[in-house]
Amino acid sequence: MRFFLSLADRFRPKVCCAWLLTVATSAACTVTPARDLGPLQPQTPARLAAVDWAAAGDEAVAWLSAYLQVDTTNPPGNETRGAEFLKAILAKEGIDGEILEFAPGRGSLVARLAGSGAEKPLCLMSHIDVVTAESANWAPGRGPLSGAIADGYVWGRGALDMKGQGILELAAMVQLKRHKIPLKRDVVLLAVADEEVDNLGTRFLIDKHWARIGCSHLLNEGGIGIRDVVYPGQTVFGVSVAEKGLLWLKMTARGKAGHGSTQLPGRAPDRLLQALDKLRARQLVAAVHPSLYESLAAAGRHGGGATGYVLQRPWLVDTLAVGKLMEEPGSRAMLANTCSITGFSGMHQPNVVPSEVSAQLDCRLLPGLKPEALLQELQALVGDDQVSWQVLHQAQATESPTDDPLFLALARHVLVGRSDAVVGPLLSVGFTDSMYARQVGVRAYGFLPVAVTRQVAETMHGADERMPVVEFKRGIRVLYGALLDVAAE
Ligand SMILES: [Zn+2]
Repeated sequence: MRFFLSLADRFRPKVCCAWLLTVATSAACTVTPARDLGPLQPQTPARLAAVDWAAAGDEAVAWLSAYLQVDTTNPPGNETRGAEFLKAILAKEGIDGEILEFAPGRGSLVARLAGSGAEKPLCLMSHIDVVTAESANWAPGRGPLSGAIADGYVWGRGALDMKGQGILELAAMVQLKRHKIPLKRDVVLLAVADEEVDNLGTRFLIDKHWARIGCSHLLNEGGIGIRDVVYPGQTVFGVSVAEKGLLWLKMTARGKAGHGSTQLPGRAPDRLLQALDKLRARQLVAAVHPSLYESLAAAGRHGGGATGYVLQRPWLVDTLAVGKLMEEPGSRAMLANTCSITGFSGMHQPNVVPSEVSAQLDCRLLPGLKPEALLQELQALVGDDQVSWQVLHQAQATESPTDDPLFLALARHVLVGRSDAVVGPLLSVGFTDSMYARQVGVRAYGFLPVAVTRQVAETMHGADERMPVVEFKRGIRVLYGALLDVAAE
């Protein structure tokens, strides 16, 4: 209703002639079309029905619990432990795996189910390493390495990010093998090291082994289902199709060194502050990625009402929703080329004004903007020749198409049997190993087909990370169905 009130406010003073009314009305009437997700492949329903899902789910929950107890905290990583754990499960099913280490103890697992080769391989990626955890902040008996199964969840660091998805992928692969599904392409499980720190596991595989891994498509992390995000009771599943690029900078201001007792103009710390003030005052321009229009429209079509009317119309989204979205840091990150100040260096003693001080910046770029272009914009804005800029790391945003069979299959299957949910593409504000895969031409999609509340989603990298058991079991079926559609003959 709030949207409609704003709509009325907006039109009353502005519509001054019939012409403008016509233009405004026709623009407002352009509706984002619903995406045709296509039908399931003819054999898929029977193949889905052939699986004992209760047994498959219980088995996967036990695997996840045990996998969470394997300590692969990064740093230091020790991912070979996790790779050995997954390899042993696959070996019992007759699936061979190979562990490739970029450094001692830092292994990634590559395991392949062979297909006919009619299409290029499909890779199921996950990272074995997990971020550190402060166990004192976790619920008693449900710590980061507990793998505890309690209150409808499996608890532990990595349950969502992303050992849970690793087990979903493994479980779906095991079902393909057990049911002797004929494949038109290889299905390759890639469980990699070091995603959380330097992406060295994936970079090593891409540099040294990609020719024989050879997948055209990759499923990885990035999207998930969140409940109550637009409408109460509705779940919005986002399949990540793009990741923002990055520009990490060190900005150094220079000036005359001296004594702190006297305030002299133009000294390095003051110059740095002036430059940072300009950066902080930089006007962010909102640019809505097509994925956001589509996902908002899907939510609006399902949820209905006045909000639904607005969400289905890009012009109204731009006019009525973008301003609000720009006020909230999480959604603003999806709409703008942002820069965060992440630290400072160059201090000495309290009474010494140094000749150089530096600030570190983390800028994130929407698809289409080159890092060099953003750097030029920032340099022009600061406009001080005593401030120098060093690029620490840069990469353009990466994107994969949405009219792709893997994207469509994931979207199709996650909605099977769910009247509470919608699905759409998503632009991720962070980057994952998918960025490196897209740089060598792989189509990568980030999706954990599991619905959680916002509160549970926020446990990733925080305390009490946990995977809901019912959703996790359902997720195996979603993934298995999608694999049947895109990989089975
Ligand atoms: Zn992750």
